[in-house]
Amino acid sequence: MNLETLTHCPLCESSELTNVLVAKDYTTSQESFQIQRCANCQFVFTNPRPAANAIGKYYQSDSYISHTDGGKGILDRVYVMARNFTLRWKERLVKKQQAHGELLDVGCGTGEFINHMKTADWQVTGMEPTETAREKASQKIQQRIHADLESINHRFDVITLWHVLEHVHELDATVEKIKSLLKENGTIFIAVPNHESPDAKVYQSHWAAYDVPRHLWHFSKTTMQYLMNKHGMKINEIVPMKLDAYYVSLLSEKYRFPEQSSLVNMIKATLQGFTSNRKASKEINHSSLIYIIKK
Ligand SMILES: [Zn+2]
Repeated sequence: MNLETLTHCPLCESSELTNVLVAKDYTTSQESFQIQRCANCQFVFTNPRPAANAIGKYYQSDSYISHTDGGKGILDRVYVMARNFTLRWKERLVKKQQAHGELLDVGCGTGEFINHMKTADWQVTGMEPTETAREKASQKIQQRIHADLESINHRFDVITLWHVLEHVHELDATVEKIKSLLKENGTIFIAVPNHESPDAKVYQSHWAAYDVPRHLWHFSKTTMQYLMNKHGMKINEIVPMKLDAYYVSLLSEKYRFPEQSSLVNMIKATLQGFTSNRKASKEINHSSLIYIIKK
């Protein structure tokens, strides 16, 4: 393993780091990784972690290749329905900020979201570091997709990072670059898992959204606020992603009780997802959150 260790908290530079828990990579390597918390600012992160040039192999799994529309099983259909519902829901969220304009999707994967927004009358730009996904996205929307942020010299009304920031090694540099790509009154949407959610507390080291070592950072509302303040931006609104509680609970059940039948998994995950959302609703502390950010 080619691991690198952070000696200081990347948010506040404190060297006082404490162990929180050890989580396992259930999807590819079956290796275990330490998760640490900064004693000063409470930021939680995977440490040590694979270096940027060594993490590629941890993405070599079927679960990280986007589902196609070809599946005929009931779960494939549920997946496609949930995905289409989520695409329309994200479109409405974006359009609450403005009706149309120029949008950059960072980590666009195979391009489902930019494809959807293009048909919804937005001018879209995509960035995706993984070559195979990038090529698919490019074919889908008949446009060039950028391989990195450095090659983009344009400013956007809206920049979206749907479950992307937790994967990025260069946290500060990425946030700073995104800020520089945003128009003065533009909006950034950052969706990330929330390790303070009720489902995270129930499943603990089996919580699927730790997803080590691919998730390098584990955000909460407090630490996201800290990160945005550090870069001179502000969180205008926080929106829960309620479907994630069900999806994450389903995976977590599988990790925690590998012998359990998929029917039992599904029933327990549905109950847990429901309970988790209900408990989270008062404080908006759901399994995954979307932060709506302004300069
Ligand atoms: Zn810190």
